[in-house]
Amino acid sequence: MVVDGGGEIIKISTLSPTRASNTKYGYYPLEGETGMSDFIDSNTGADVLVDEELLEDKVDVEYRADIIETHYDEVSRENAVTIAEILKSVMEGYDLNKREAREKIVSETGLREARATTVYRTERHSIQLAESVSEVDLDGMSMEYSWSTAGDNAVHPVCETITEMVDKRGGQVPLETLVELIRAAAEVHADEGGTPERADHFVGHEECRSVMLSHISPDS
Ligand SMILES: [Zn+2]
Repeated sequence: MVVDGGGEIIKISTLSPTRASNTKYGYYPLEGETGMSDFIDSNTGADVLVDEELLEDKVDVEYRADIIETHYDEVSRENAVTIAEILKSVMEGYDLNKREAREKIVSETGLREARATTVYRTERHSIQLAESVSEVDLDGMSMEYSWSTAGDNAVHPVCETITEMVDKRGGQVPLETLVELIRAAAEVHADEGGTPERADHFVGHEECRSVMLSHISPDS
């Protein structure tokens, strides 16, 4: 995670953050860098650059299975657990690459390949965003978040709207506000695939590629 400390970019991992859990959002933030998982994932086979201990407990199988079962009508409880276990395996152990994970989901659940890919990408991204959030208490400083789109021509309207809403509020907002803006933007674009019911998981639409960047709150 990169923290903007008043113009100076510092890595939060150098500040010895405490490990925390947050039952409201159901994630277990770890110290680490936003986008690190993408880097590792795209370099399967290369040396893992981070201490594997940092990656433990990234995926809570029961919690993620509940989400998958709830939000994908065609996925049974049993298959939701299977998918969550595959996500855990690929995101914590690096013993599967992305393609293998998707193939395993198809072969073990019977989902169509395109749908398996969507579920895999969407949930993996949701987990990565949750991981990039930290309620680390840096000497009483609180954190704010900005929303960063992929910066290409394929930015989803939901994410364009989230970015506009965050910019109107000064470019960074507390986590609770960001979740509400994701929900609002997804409602505005519900006809274009917006998923307001998934704002709590940082999913404004399926197959999102935007990331959250954390900043030390100016009020800290
Ligand atoms: Zn998006």
